[in-house]
Amino acid sequence: MKAYSTHMKRFLISNLLAMLALAAGTGNSAAAGKLNVVTTLEDLASIARFVGGDDVIVTSFCHGAQDAHFLDAKPSYLVKLNRADVLIENGGELESSWLSGLVDGARNRRILGGAPGRVVAMDAIEPLEVPAKLDRSEGDVHPQGNPHFTLDPSNARPVAARICAAFCAVAPEKAERFRANLAAFDTRLDKSLARWMAMMAPLKGLKIVTFHRNFSYLARRFDWQVVGTLEPKPGVPPSPGHLANLIVTMKTQGAKLILAESYRDLKVAQFAAEKSGAVLLVVPTGVGGNAETPDFFHYFDWLLDQIAKAGGR
Ligand SMILES: [Zn+2]
Repeated sequence: MKAYSTHMKRFLISNLLAMLALAAGTGNSAAAGKLNVVTTLEDLASIARFVGGDDVIVTSFCHGAQDAHFLDAKPSYLVKLNRADVLIENGGELESSWLSGLVDGARNRRILGGAPGRVVAMDAIEPLEVPAKLDRSEGDVHPQGNPHFTLDPSNARPVAARICAAFCAVAPEKAERFRANLAAFDTRLDKSLARWMAMMAPLKGLKIVTFHRNFSYLARRFDWQVVGTLEPKPGVPPSPGHLANLIVTMKTQGAKLILAESYRDLKVAQFAAEKSGAVLLVVPTGVGGNAETPDFFHYFDWLLDQIAKAGGR
């Protein structure tokens, strides 16, 4: 059944490519009006909207309740990429299983690697958990380091600057407006960060367990300790042996909180919580994963409030 659906998808995509070839030759829509911006993550879309203001139309392929490692690419994504002036990806191989094939198929020079309209957000930050040597054995999906840097709100500053530079390069006539928007975003970010740091100060040293390594950057920002993960390696499902060891570690270390992504099979997380006596908190890992988190600032307001309540118990 899976082979059949993959075959069908290839068939649909090849038909769509033929249609796109007919439509090829359309000029840069930047000159005509608003920039067409496509992002992989809604987190990046939200930052792009703050920087681009009224001069951009931004669409994202994933929202915060989806796993960007394994997104099911739809043929409609090709149309969006074909028309994009700017493509903003997370990078660090987060989207490697699905994005490069789409970009190849979209036949749009404006968003090819190295073009002014292609932004790899992870290039703007210092990655955590970079392995000493590249290791894809056992299916590790983080061979270039941890790609979940958008979970540290302070990383939004360099990422927004990178996005602003790309917008200015693609539409230089609007550069002044983009730079003013960036300055306003940075000011709001500074105020929010001060508030979030104060809000989380009582939880300094909090010991947590996470399902996937989604929350490493968040933990570093607020001085929490990740004592283990339910996955033995990023992208590798929990095994009974690993789980048994982890529950022992949680008890000896006094880990009282399990953070799990809302798109996981949560039976394992519930089991670990019951056996260890920890609280299980299930959250979307990015903007737009629920009704309370429509943009960057709302997401961290909501997420940190949830963690403050659960971690303080
Ligand atoms: Zn990951």
